[in-house]
Amino acid sequence: MFSVDGAQLYAKKASACWIYIWVLFNLSPDRRYKKKHVFIGGFIPGPNNPKNLDSFLFPGLAHLSAIQREGLRLWDSALHREIQSKVFLALLTADGPGMMHITGLVGYHGKHGCRLYCGLPGRREPQGKHYFPALLKPVDYDIDGCLHEDVEIRNIPRASCDRYHQNLRYLVSSPNETQYRLRRLETGISKPSIFSGLDPYFTLGLPKSAGSDIMHLGALNLSDLMISLWRGTMDCTRPDNKDTWTWLVLQGDVWQRHGKSVADALYFLPSSFERPPRNIAEKLTSGYKAWEFLLYLYGLGPGLLYGILPRVYYSNYCKLVYGMRLMNQHNISLDNVRDAYLALASFAREFEEIYCQRLVTRIHFVRPCLHSLVHLPREVIRLGPPICSSQWTLERTIGNLGEEIKQHSNPFGNLSQRGIRRAQVNALKAMIPGLDTEGSDGGHLPRGSKDLSDGFVLLRARESDPRPLRDCEADALCEYLRILFLGPEVLVRRWAKLRIPTGQNCYSAWKEKQKPLEKRRTARNVKVRRRPAVWFLAYWHVIRFL
Ligand SMILES: [Zn+2]
Repeated sequence: MFSVDGAQLYAKKASACWIYIWVLFNLSPDRRYKKKHVFIGGFIPGPNNPKNLDSFLFPGLAHLSAIQREGLRLWDSALHREIQSKVFLALLTADGPGMMHITGLVGYHGKHGCRLYCGLPGRREPQGKHYFPALLKPVDYDIDGCLHEDVEIRNIPRASCDRYHQNLRYLVSSPNETQYRLRRLETGISKPSIFSGLDPYFTLGLPKSAGSDIMHLGALNLSDLMISLWRGTMDCTRPDNKDTWTWLVLQGDVWQRHGKSVADALYFLPSSFERPPRNIAEKLTSGYKAWEFLLYLYGLGPGLLYGILPRVYYSNYCKLVYGMRLMNQHNISLDNVRDAYLALASFAREFEEIYCQRLVTRIHFVRPCLHSLVHLPREVIRLGPPICSSQWTLERTIGNLGEEIKQHSNPFGNLSQRGIRRAQVNALKAMIPGLDTEGSDGGHLPRGSKDLSDGFVLLRARESDPRPLRDCEADALCEYLRILFLGPEVLVRRWAKLRIPTGQNCYSAWKEKQKPLEKRRTARNVKVRRRPAVWFLAYWHVIRFL
């Protein structure tokens, strides 16, 4: 998978930079996203956007093309012989603006703006140039080229390579600039893609190699859409009036209290959920992270917005949550796909009915993300769980490479040197596995931890010396082991944390009680506290007896 994105290296200065990576699908999902298996493709220095992205991608693609044609020579250590591997480029991924550059499609504001090239025509507002994928035809609507009747959401066609190529030929044979503009509008293609230069035998080909990106879609685009409606920050086109927006509820005291509830939910989230959402009322506009939006919209929202959003908007929102939770899973069954499809299609259609209400002034509510959402379940059948082809990997890579920048006077040059060094280190580890201290799967237990097997790991801190049991501890241990008596030879030592097979850590009262109240993590492990056996293991490690 090819993945590209622009990144801002410093929060407070113009420092945009583009990075692209390769993800190797031969490796299983639990390995392929590890730092050492993500191949850095290249860096495109900023701070201005590249004028001709293709020219920067060319060296990498020329290399790919060469190993596709000549075969990639690999050593098969099981068979003790050399093999020729065929390198197949399955997917291209990027966020909305990036996708436009690599596929040569017109982009999400075009009349045919679907990134998967399904051919759905958009509609535009009378004053605007941008098109929106509105299914329902507004009343009293008279915009040339957008007068098609309501679109039935189930009849949206699939992407077709033949149609794409036919349209592309039509576009590039335009005799003059005017015809080119007309044909661009009509076909949704603005230029041929450099990826079409690859041998069609070694790639899915456009538009099928265009991936949907559940990270930007779910965590950023949809949350922005819903929150701007509920907060009333969405543009209001006259003569529409915000006083008629009955869904506009997150204001004033309600919004402040809601924000506080989000922050207070911290104590009910297991630590494996990583960064818990902060107070959204305070932090919404200052770097609220994709992960926070994700937990807010699909985790906490249904609980915290119950009774606040009017009923019809609440039930509509729940369809979105239900569908997206299914789509974000690592394993998605056929039943899940069907349920998600029904929920998301119903959400998108109903969204237009209850928010837009067939008003011309509200066409801009139907942002492209609503349409992309409806494609997701079908994409699962074609490509597997969307999380496996999302931009999370690239965002993480940008994050951890950005942290490595050492020379802030020349960040772009330094960044690309960090990338080269990482590639060299990874190559050495592959050639001389002994150099790799993390093991083949990249799993790396923290220093001083103790692996109890079956997914249980004790983590530091640890009591320095083993000591005999106190009476209360002996009673508890006897009860747990269902025996009557423990001999004096049993010694114990307390540990601070126990990692359990779900990847969650539970924290022992022994260490947590030494911290100030607000820093204690015990209250974040509600589930674990109800399971005394696991809790018990976290508290003591019985040295000789077990
Ligand atoms: Zn589409």
